[in-house]
Amino acid sequence: MTDPIVAATRFLAEQMEWIRHHPAADEHLDVIERCVRRIRGVVDGPRPKKYLGPCGADLDALGIGPESLSGPYVPTVSDPCEGDVYGVVGGKTGTCRTCGAQVAQDERRAWLDDQVRDKAFRAAHIADAYGINVNTIRTWAARGHLVQHGIDRDLRPVYLVGDVLDLARAAAIRRAENEARRERATA
Ligand SMILES: [Zn+2]
Repeated sequence: MTDPIVAATRFLAEQMEWIRHHPAADEHLDVIERCVRRIRGVVDGPRPKKYLGPCGADLDALGIGPESLSGPYVPTVSDPCEGDVYGVVGGKTGTCRTCGAQVAQDERRAWLDDQVRDKAFRAAHIADAYGINVNTIRTWAARGHLVQHGIDRDLRPVYLVGDVLDLARAAAIRRAENEARRERATA
């Protein structure tokens, strides 16, 4: 049996000639494009999202009371909102799953970084959370730039998130300076 999607696509391709002369051709195109997006979404799966912390939106100020939320699932909303904010990786904004409030990812990340600066984790976990190469973190530790902050229950060394972020920031600044110097040299 032919794949029903293939059969439907073939059928649609044969209808294109009369559809493109139809007064509502643009509407047809809209519907087809929507279908394509939906199928692509099913194939690709949801885009990876990152947790951006608790929402905390002042729902009264936003005019979002529980009575203004509707749909098959009406979440319990407290004020301030206790929902969780998630954002698409690489995106600019994040959205609260409970009240729908939008936040800027940059500001959220800065705030989250502040919250965990004085917490200690092993190198691999910090590398994972911040997209820093784990070998770079281990090199910093081996060279004494990064001071070990005890061990976890598996007896693995742990480091303060703030220390690692400071070193990563300094390394990024050094990289940018070197690049600028190289560009000046070749100019
Ligand atoms: Zn919220």
